[in-house]
Amino acid sequence: MADSVLIIDDSQAVRERIIKTLESFNFAARYYEAEDGLEGFKKLLSSPMDIILCDLEMPRIDGFKFLNMLKSRPDLQDVPVIILTGMNDRDLKIKGLGQGAIDYIVKPFDPEELVARVKVHLKIKHLQDDLKRSNELLLELSNTDHLTRLFNRRYLMDALDKEVQRTIRKSGSMSLIILDIDHFKLVNDTYGHQQGDVVLQKVALHLQKELRGYDIAARYGGEEFIAVLPDAKLNEAIFVAERIRLSIQNAKFEAPLSDLAITVSLGVAAFPELGCTTVDGFIKLADDALYRAKDKGRNRVEFCS
Ligand code: GH3
Ligand code: MG
Ligand code: MG
Ligand code: MG
Repeated sequence: MADSVLIIDDSQAVRERIIKTLESFNFAARYYEAEDGLEGFKKLLSSPMDIILCDLEMPRIDGFKFLNMLKSRPDLQDVPVIILTGMNDRDLKIKGLGQGAIDYIVKPFDPEELVARVKVHLKIKHLQDDLKRSNELLLELSNTDHLTRLFNRRYLMDALDKEVQRTIRKSGSMSLIILDIDHFKLVNDTYGHQQGDVVLQKVALHLQKELRGYDIAARYGGEEFIAVLPDAKLNEAIFVAERIRLSIQNAKFEAPLSDLAITVSLGVAAFPELGCTTVDGFIKLADDALYRAKDKGRNRVEFCS
């Protein structure tokens, strides 16, 4: 995709000369123009830019003010800004680079040098973008259970810890549902481990479907899942757990699992209603309730009381 280049300069003649120069070196790009910092900032907000060439002296919002506005927006800080000015002044150069500009070029500029510098800064920008994307992907992978695409246990424990702290701070409430597939070993024994995996994926899908966007659904262990429901009281969580139970009970499977009916047992606990103050204690309460659900015949919801 062609790069987007924003040129901020109060002189139309200068803007045209910059674009002509870049074009004459077969620099394929989409060009955006602005006549002062404010207009430039607005253009930047409405379309992402790969590089900005910015004049210093302009009416209203000048180049330095523009750099300051950029600083207030962390999401825009990685866009390289080259100062392109008629002022060949050592102190201004230091000030501009100190305020976040990546380069300082003095007008009248050498066309070939301008193009070379723009290319270098674009190359660095693209490498940084790639790195950012890789890091985001890596973070997602390290938080995700590869089979079900739900959050993994590591992420769950971190998130749960934060959520418990937040709930204590706000004197609010939150709930936790722990879910375990009934007689899952039998599925593996009958249909094989691979089909067992298909069942796990299906259960994950139904669990996720019954939750709100800001609830956290995670694979806690082999065939055990945990849902964290921020701001939910015990009775609300019991209601959700019952919905999950029914949804899974009614799930349909494709061959060779067409005859399979799966049920789950669920344990629900609310925080901090029973005065437990730790994440482990919280999970233990839900787990005890789950154990009772198994004990009472499975395919049911039990809660700590
Ligand atoms: P219960 O109703 O008491 O929960 O019985 P259960 O058979 O579900 O429980 P049990 O703990 O005896 O068996 C759990 C089984 O889950 C055993 C294990 O092989 C299986 N399992 C754990 N992780 C995976 C996985 O990633 N894929 C598959 N296919 N099976 C798994
Ligand atoms: Mg000017
Ligand atoms: Mg289990
Ligand atoms: Mg089980």
